[in-house]
Formats: sequence, C-alpha cells, structure tokens
Amino acid sequence: MQTVTDQTLLDLSDVCQHYDKGRDTPLVVLDKVDLRLRRGEIVGLLGRSGSGKSTLLRIAAGLIRPSSGRVQCNGRPITGPVSEVAMVFQSFALFPWLTVLENVELGLEALGIEPAARHKRSLAAIQLIGLRGFESAYPRELSGGMRQRVGFARALVVHPQILLMDEPFSALDVLTAETLRTDLLDLWGEGQLPIKSILMVTHNIEEAVLMCDRILIFSSNPGRVIGEITVSLPQPRSRQDPSFRRLVDDIYTRMTARSDVRSNTRNELFPGTGIGTVLPQISTNLLSGFIEALASAPYAGRADLPALAEALQMPSDELLPIAETLQLLRFAELAEGDITLSERGQRFAVGDPQVRQQLFREHLISYVALAAHIHRVLDDRPSHVAPALRFQEELQDYMSAKFADTTLKAVIGWARYGNLFDYDEQTEMFALEPVPSAR
Ligand code: ADP
Ligand code: MG
Repeated sequence: MQTVTDQTLLDLSDVCQHYDKGRDTPLVVLDKVDLRLRRGEIVGLLGRSGSGKSTLLRIAAGLIRPSSGRVQCNGRPITGPVSEVAMVFQSFALFPWLTVLENVELGLEALGIEPAARHKRSLAAIQLIGLRGFESAYPRELSGGMRQRVGFARALVVHPQILLMDEPFSALDVLTAETLRTDLLDLWGEGQLPIKSILMVTHNIEEAVLMCDRILIFSSNPGRVIGEITVSLPQPRSRQDPSFRRLVDDIYTRMTARSDVRSNTRNELFPGTGIGTVLPQISTNLLSGFIEALASAPYAGRADLPALAEALQMPSDELLPIAETLQLLRFAELAEGDITLSERGQRFAVGDPQVRQQLFREHLISYVALAAHIHRVLDDRPSHVAPALRFQEELQDYMSAKFADTTLKAVIGWARYGNLFDYDEQTEMFALEPVPSAR
C-alpha cells in the first residue's frame, strides 16, 4: 500500500455542470461538487448510472469545462487536457486500425516526444501491463481484458501523476475483471506505476471496497457527493473478511438510505418522478424473477441487499439497478440496505400472467412518467402512432442522446410487457396497439 499524504494533487471545488436546453430551468447534472485527491490514494466515486460521474471525470481531465467552479491540478487551474492527468475508459477507446504499440505510442506523439523515446517508453508500458509479445497485434485480435490492458498502457505511457478510470472493469467478464484489478493493485502497491493517485468511477460497491482508500458516494438528480467512507483495511483485501463485508453492508445502507437522510434534494426516494429520468435497461424477465425470489423462502418478502447479492452471486452494480427499478415501480421499497416487497409486489408474485400484466401496466402509468407520457401522446393521436424521433428529441432536453436511447429502450421493454404500447423497430414508430412485426 502506498502512503497517503496531505499533498493535494487534484482539487475540484464548487463544481457545477448544467445543460441549458432552452427550457425554463436548465438540467443540473453536477451541483457544487467538492473533491480532493491526495497524493498516494485511490479514491472511488460510487453512484448510479446517469448521476454525472463520467461528466465529473471529464471535467477533472480537462476534457470539458464546468459551468462553474474551480478545477486545479498541483495548484494550477485546468482549462484543457494536461499531461499530469490520463484517463482509462470503460469502452477501451482503441483505434482498430492501429497495432497495440501504435495505440500506445499515440499519446506520446501528442506530447511531442521524439520517435526513439516514444518507442522505448511504449514498449516499457506494454511490458509493465502484461502485454509483452502483443506489440504488433491489432485490437480485434485481443480479448476484452487484453484490450483494456492496452487502454491502461496508453494512459500510463505518458507518465501521468493522476490516473482517472471510468468504470474500467465493467465491460469485462467477472474473472478477467478480477485479474486486471489484482494486477493493477499489485503494481500500485509495489510502486511500479508512474502515477501518484487514482480516481476511479464505479457502480460496483465490492470493487470500490476492494480497491479504494476512500469512497465518495454520489447522488443523482443532481449529482453531488453525499457521503465519504475511509477504507483502512490493509491490502491485499479479502472479500471474505468480515470487516470487508461490514463495509459493503454499510455502503448498501447508505446508498439506499431514506430521503430524509439525503435531505433537500428532489426525487431521491422515488427517482422516477419526471420524464427526464434516466431509466436502466432491466428486462421484465429479470424483474419478475426477482420479485418471485424475494417473495419465496427464505426471504418471504424482505431481504438484506448484501445478503441477497451474496446468495444470488450478483455484484451490486447488477443488483442495485434491479432493486431501484422495483422501487421506482413501487413493487418494492428500499431502506437501510433492505428491500421489502410492497403489497402490490406480493400480489404480483402470486399472480397469473394476466394479473401480472395488469399490475405492471397500472404501475407504469402511475409511476413511470415517461411511459405515461408516451401512452398519452399515442392515445391523443387519431392514428395512435408516433415516430421515435418525437420522444428522442424530447428526452434530449434532459439527457444526452446515448442515455435517451437506453431510456427509451427500457421503457419499450416494460411497456410491451404491460401491454401499454408497442414499438416497431423497422419503421421506428411507437404504436398503441401491438405491432405484429415488432418482435
Ligand atoms: P454517469 O457517468 O454517472 O452514468 P454521465 O456523467 O454520463 O453519468 O451523465 C449524467 C447526466 O448528464 C445524464 O443524465 C446525461 O444524460 C446528462 N448529460 C451528459 N452529457 C450531456 C449533454 N451533452 N447534454 C445533455 N445532457 C447530458
Ligand atoms: Mg458514466
């Protein structure tokens, strides 16, 4: 483990980010975020999808200028990309037409480093991260884990002080992710990495507890830091260690705390109040399976989330979105790390397919504003159809095109199950009546 010092490397204070889409009130993505990264520490940023974590990292990397607030690296303001800060992306972001070596060298080219030194440093980074022998391979020839190693090599080769990682393991399978985490922690612990601090975004609680010295809990709508947890367990950490489990439990509790704890922010207990809410793409199969599991023994309608995650062998970044969707739909309630089926959730569990469909439909209309909105628009139109574009544009007043897309996909899946409306992928039209060709 490295020694954490008091020297602040990265300093974000009072950072706000809003998107002004010509509505009365701009969309506030980040609200007065303060974050200090000290030399020698790994800090984790834990929050839901759509809460503004990537936005914050991009601001820290100098890739976007915040609407207001101050961003400093080593006491100097960041106004654009700087060589002290490098980033690893969830999607690897490699150039497919370049070899491993060329992908890694690219960052050094931008720094104006001459070819011989570029070559030498790139080979060293490739070797360090465990890719020796793959210098002339193309990304398509590599597994996901190896591609992400290239992502790491490319970030490390510039010898940054600060490494920013945006959910770097979430696109990898469980075993590959664990291997890469361990390798990275080993290199870090042995002091082999050129970096001094790491700031990583994750929505996996266990990953945060495994890797971080400090964990910041991030709220959504708007994104702000609502809690901080210091993890003082020595490295290497074991997931089986009771104090590890206690910390995971504690974070689950904090992340599902009732709204009065996270006071004065709107929409937290039931985040799906507005049509602009980012929805997670969770299948109705998964939702109903989950309700059934919760209703049956040993849970009988109520479960401790960390225990449930353990029993179902599910990491928190898979479990929490399902639990939160059930909460949004009012089939369950989350509080203090527990999930409890509501009376209607119990009815769903024992209901036949018709009963389930009817309940789902009613809850979609009542609690998922976007579903109700699309339904109303379709109902109002004599043709009972509407192009996807209409809703995509509307959602983009509240969120980026990417989130608008997944949000619409989520609501389409749910609406089909509840027989509320349908969508034709071919014609890109929503319709009130089931579309024969749509499935
Ligand atoms: P996270 O990484 O936590 O999942 P992001 O930082 O990617 O979240 O996004 C936070 C919110 O900001 C989302 O609601 C997203 O749709 C919105 N957002 C991001 N970029 C833009 C943009 N250019 N225009 C409008 N909204 C945006
Ligand atoms: Mg993100």
